[in-house]
Amino acid sequence: MSSDLLPLVREDLRGFGGYSSARSHALDGEVWLNANESPWPNPADAGSSCRRYPDPQPVPLVQALARLYRCEASQVLVGRGSDEAIDLLVRALCVPQRDAIVTTPPVFGMYAVSARLQGARLLEVPLVDGPGGFAVDLDAVATTAEQGSAKLVFLCSPSNPTGADVPLEGIAALASRLAGRTLVVVDEAYGEFSSQPSATTLMGAHGNIAVLRTLSKAHALAAARIGTLIADAALIGVLRACQAPYPVPTPCAELAVAGLSPEALARTGERVALVRSERARLAGALASMPGVRRVYPSAGNYLLARFDDAQAAFDTLLAAGVVVRDQRAAPPLGDALRITIGTPDQNDRVLAALAAQEAAA
Ligand code: PMP
Repeated sequence: MSSDLLPLVREDLRGFGGYSSARSHALDGEVWLNANESPWPNPADAGSSCRRYPDPQPVPLVQALARLYRCEASQVLVGRGSDEAIDLLVRALCVPQRDAIVTTPPVFGMYAVSARLQGARLLEVPLVDGPGGFAVDLDAVATTAEQGSAKLVFLCSPSNPTGADVPLEGIAALASRLAGRTLVVVDEAYGEFSSQPSATTLMGAHGNIAVLRTLSKAHALAAARIGTLIADAALIGVLRACQAPYPVPTPCAELAVAGLSPEALARTGERVALVRSERARLAGALASMPGVRRVYPSAGNYLLARFDDAQAAFDTLLAAGVVVRDQRAAPPLGDALRITIGTPDQNDRVLAALAAQEAAA
């Protein structure tokens, strides 16, 4: 492990080998009688790919992800969604009741959930709502991480639910300031919808940056649960030892590899382009509606909007069969809804329902 990162891993886990599964022994043979599997496939298992336990990190999938994210295979950890990687990071780095993580609310909730489950302290640095949208106060994040001896900072870029990118120069400066003390994790679950390059481009210069990616959003494979952590190879090794024995089901791995074929990637690229143009169209149309107070600029596949009467907007959409995300429980978003960009028809339905409500008001 790069000497910078070793002190960040829980001391009791630094030499930990994890569970030694039958698949983890590099043996070769023709008849496999070492894992108490059935010698026959299940009658429903047409391709008989499920009779045997999967490779913990299926090589074709890891290679496809490394190509996709332009990194080395040794820097890749595949897990059950990026949710699992968030949880593994918190568990492997934070000593319960002692260590801390930093988050920037309002933000995706799993960082706080994982901290709670691990008994890690949660240090929150609220986003700042300015003329350009919600922004991370990177100086305050650095100070909070330093003063609280945080092991992890989670930055969400583009941020869910507010939509803004965290500027790469700011991430680089934060990583420099926290080098040797804190791992800066950049969650790029919506990175495909943004114009900003990935924070993986900073990893050569900053060993304490890690990046989260997922096939759940732009790649339309949410139910396959394929998330990726890209980080220092030795840290990936530590996390693998902490992970469940067979985290990637074979049907999911096979689907993901097929979903990353050149043809599939070309279709995904077309759909991302469509989402981006629909995002601009929907943002413009919403912003011109009388009951809409503000539409935030978004680099993701969603828009955060403030309404004069968010409850009425939510109810109107629901009555039209459209379910959006109510954000009002988060303190600075007391009048806000988050609307995922759908197909052009679905987006028209959103606009028509809200326009009809305005006309009736
Ligand atoms: N990060 C962010 C910012 C998200 O919004 C989500 C899902 N809503 C995730 C991570 C988790 O995605 P998954 O576990 O499906 O990879």
